[in-house]
Amino acid sequence: MHKISDIVSTGKLLTSDGAWGTYLFKKGLAIGNCPEEWNLTHYDDVFDIAKSYVVAGSDIISTNSFGSNVFKLSQYNLQEKLSEICQTAAEISRKAAGKNKIVMASIGPTGKFLIIGDVTSEDLYNSFKQQAIAFEKGGADAVCIETFYALDEAEQAIRAVKENTSLEVICTFTFDKSESGYKTLMGVTPQQMAESLIAYGADIIGANCGSGFEVMVEIVSLIREVSPQIPIMIQANAGLPIFENDKLVYSETPEKIKVIIPNLIEAGANIIGGCCGTTPEHIKVISKIVSDYNNRKI
Ligand SMILES: [Zn+2]
Repeated sequence: MHKISDIVSTGKLLTSDGAWGTYLFKKGLAIGNCPEEWNLTHYDDVFDIAKSYVVAGSDIISTNSFGSNVFKLSQYNLQEKLSEICQTAAEISRKAAGKNKIVMASIGPTGKFLIIGDVTSEDLYNSFKQQAIAFEKGGADAVCIETFYALDEAEQAIRAVKENTSLEVICTFTFDKSESGYKTLMGVTPQQMAESLIAYGADIIGANCGSGFEVMVEIVSLIREVSPQIPIMIQANAGLPIFENDKLVYSETPEKIKVIIPNLIEAGANIIGGCCGTTPEHIKVISKIVSDYNNRKI
């Protein structure tokens, strides 16, 4: 069992992995199909994605399970397969990662809102609990509760994992820059997120997705204002996507992020990877900078 926070507490930085969703589409996933069903129907394609990040230098490998909650799976009538889908997701990434790398299982938001009475806290808790137990069975070391925007939903996810498994808990929110600063869809600031998630028991916190690597530097500094010690994970998008000849293109190329990564480290990020639009090429760049830092070349 690898503990990310133990490794980070020695001063070492870690590289996580890049996009899964955009990668699955490249591999042929059709719009309207369930990405997580691919764990059962396209095992080798999912394994290839995990393996390509291992080869690119990721220390932490994610899983193909972002939408594997009861609410999203029931849109495809796959809710009965939740445990099988989640356990297989962890098994695939574990197989690619081997014994020495860390597997962190992805938990995305349910798309339900407690504030409008869409769902009860108990419904959310039970869905997250089922996912977490299956991830642990499949060999995950940690869960990454990611792309979240609401504190009440994050609280249920963190508690469900903590109370039912021994998995380490990472929780990262997605922020947009508004005139009044960085906020999530539900109006949560990075500082409010940090205070709350630490109180709920998250081991590692941070930000993912959003509008690219550049803005993450400021977000890391805002989280660091709240806690000098909490390990911070940043997994940014490769910039904002733009349409070019009918194709979605991401503006932050591996070359462009090269100069931003040292600033993220300087601001206090401990674990760095990518979100939408990032590729194994981005991870190679991050991994090189991270290992140079670990060897104190920069
Ligand atoms: Zn993203």
